[in-house]
Amino acid sequence: MAEVNPDSLFEHAREVIPGGVSSPVRAYGSVGGTPVFVSSARGPYITGVDGREYVDLVCSWGPALLGHAHPEVVAAVQAAASRGLSFGAPTAAEVELADAVRARVPAAEQVRFVSTGTEATMTAIRLARGATGRDAIVKFAGCYHGHSDALLAAAGSGVATQGLPGSAGVTQAAAADTIVVDYNDLNALEGVFAEAGDRIAAVITEAAPSNMGVVPPAPGFNAALRELTQRHGALLILDEVLTGFRVGPGGWLGLEGGYTPDLVTFGKVIGGGMPLAALGGRADLMQLLAPVGPVYQAGTLSGNPLATAAGLATLRLADAGVYDTVDRRSVELQRAVSEALSAASVPHTVNSAGSLFSVFFRAEPVRNYDEAKAQDQSAFARFFHSMLDQGVALPPSAFEAWFLSAAHDDAAMGRILQALPGAARAAAHS
Ligand SMILES: *Cc1c(COP(=O)(O)O)cnc(C)c1O
Repeated sequence: MAEVNPDSLFEHAREVIPGGVSSPVRAYGSVGGTPVFVSSARGPYITGVDGREYVDLVCSWGPALLGHAHPEVVAAVQAAASRGLSFGAPTAAEVELADAVRARVPAAEQVRFVSTGTEATMTAIRLARGATGRDAIVKFAGCYHGHSDALLAAAGSGVATQGLPGSAGVTQAAAADTIVVDYNDLNALEGVFAEAGDRIAAVITEAAPSNMGVVPPAPGFNAALRELTQRHGALLILDEVLTGFRVGPGGWLGLEGGYTPDLVTFGKVIGGGMPLAALGGRADLMQLLAPVGPVYQAGTLSGNPLATAAGLATLRLADAGVYDTVDRRSVELQRAVSEALSAASVPHTVNSAGSLFSVFFRAEPVRNYDEAKAQDQSAFARFFHSMLDQGVALPPSAFEAWFLSAAHDDAAMGRILQALPGAARAAAHS
């Protein structure tokens, strides 16, 4: 394939696509420079249009748990494609995938498939409102639940990367029904419920927040959310779009246990790299969805056979060995990053939740969004570009988790470890 100059491609891209990208954080806005325009990916590597190869620590923002283009996943998609791309009719594979989800996450008594995490959380909110007859929802600052109107207030991910309070175009009415509370602050949440408990349809939380960097729940926090919502007749929506099937076979819920949310949302790994997401939960609530109940939800490409095939193959392959490998690589990398940064006297904090982790460029602990924001983002940008120059592609934001896969073998890890000392020195020198 002919090599392409990424700088001129980016310039052209920005003429025809806002920011040159189909999703904001890809534009490298907070780190500067030209994004890697990817031409192909395999295992732990991505290759740019200029022919350069990088060890990838983005993994499509999570889905590539098995590494890129896993041969068995690709074969499953190819086989499905040869039988037809989309039918707009039910398939046996969807039933099989629903069974697979339920086997791993018993709280998902029934499952509805959609195409994106945004749709899954948006539907969960509508369902919670329909079930309770209440309007208000509670979310936590720094948690990201996709880009539906109700959930953009004080959101993480790209909203955090760009330093936005929310989004233009969200009506005041929609914003007024969203109550934002600091993460890990049970007192504040109790105060909100004491004041407005009978107006609150649901609390939505990331199972282990990973879109303001990784900020794990304090021990007992999620269980306390369960207890508090139950006491006030509100639902608990556990957003496992990022953590689900990534941090373990049963997601964060499977690791932590001890409480049961009413609704759970999935995305990313469940589609194995294709557009597939899901909403699951208590059967009596799920039965409120159309066509059984009065809460409407639909999708032309929902449960798409190619995406379903990719998801099924991915879950089938994601066995204990895969999770053990990702866990082990994660510990190895966390330790190496911290050592390199310490050796270069760069203040930092490494937070982790299962195999998910991120590095904050500040010495003090990070327990919420305010503390996450109080890091040295320019140090991260220097670190990022040094890694990139050395052939390692980190997430281009100080507010994102670093993603590993079971395909990150000794060779790929070796390349990352080799790049760390230079990047740490770059971070140290402003
Ligand atoms: C990625 C993400 C979403 C949104 O999913 P999309 O498929 O990008 O719409 C929602 N919640 C969490 C926790 C996420 O990480």
